Amino acid sequence: MASQDIIARSATTTPMPSVRQMDDVAKLIDVSKCIGCKACQVACSEWNELRDEVGHNHGVYDNPMDLTAESWTVMRFTEYESDAGNLEWLIRKDGCMHCAEPGCLAACPSPGAIVKYANGIVDFNQDKCIGCGYCITGCPFNIPRISQKDHKAYKCSLCSDRVSVGLEPACVKTCPTGAIVFGSKEDMKEHAAERIVDLKSRGFENAGLYDPQGVGGTHVMYVLHHADRPSLYAGLPDDPGISPMVSLWKGVTKPLALLGMGLVALFGFFHYVRVGPNRVEEDEAPQGDATVHKVDPSVREFDPKSPS
Ligand code: SF4
Ligand code: SF4
Repeated sequence: MASQDIIARSATTTPMPSVRQMDDVAKLIDVSKCIGCKACQVACSEWNELRDEVGHNHGVYDNPMDLTAESWTVMRFTEYESDAGNLEWLIRKDGCMHCAEPGCLAACPSPGAIVKYANGIVDFNQDKCIGCGYCITGCPFNIPRISQKDHKAYKCSLCSDRVSVGLEPACVKTCPTGAIVFGSKEDMKEHAAERIVDLKSRGFENAGLYDPQGVGGTHVMYVLHHADRPSLYAGLPDDPGISPMVSLWKGVTKPLALLGMGLVALFGFFHYVRVGPNRVEEDEAPQGDATVHKVDPSVREFDPKSPS
């Protein structure tokens, strides 16, 4: 995407000179349609040219077991026994939620390392990343990962390169069951509403949309059969919000630190005006270094070419 599409940059308060108007986009993941085939994981690796380490079988379907700098999306599998005694497979595609109020961007201290585009996509710019990991602290969904190879942070980009030329993200393109759909956020909400009516008619009375307002809503949303308990789905946060540490840093600590620095500079200025520059008195000046020993002039350097 172009710089005119950026509406927010990390560690930057200067407003963008011009921003193009764009519709909010969203990816809707219908958990009730997912069969756990992992085609979306493969498509993500293929499109983004990611090659993660070959892992081990841990006796579960999750593979890899967690997100990494080279696995930007993973399927998380949960066996759930309902109150009625029915066993349910809850399968959730995990990855960046592209928050409307991204905690990663708020926490990042490096200007421009994280940007938010006018269509809602949150993207990392590795050229400007300093690898401090603050984005991980700021993210309520525990998404970014630091690469062991180049010490930069990585996560799903919502295929911003594809979206910028009118294509859908690679995972959406490949999903064989239509569990992932992509479009304007409004359209996705309407689509979700239809799916929720269907799920309720099939006995899932708590079916609903996951678009958490604690982060201003997200540009990746889920249709859940048990929307009253998102944490059933491999720990999806029930009520995510930006960490108080980030709010503290942005809201109190940072202004106080800046005030402290300003006071030190002001004090230094008044000291200079009233007292003048610091001068070293003659009797304070060092009179030579006592640790340096004078070389005995009778000692000569050995020169193999000169006769002794
Ligand atoms: S899910 Fe985490 S990494 Fe993604 S935009 Fe939100 S805060 Fe940032
Ligand atoms: S491609 Fe679709 S059905 Fe397959 S695992 Fe991903 S979301 Fe589920």
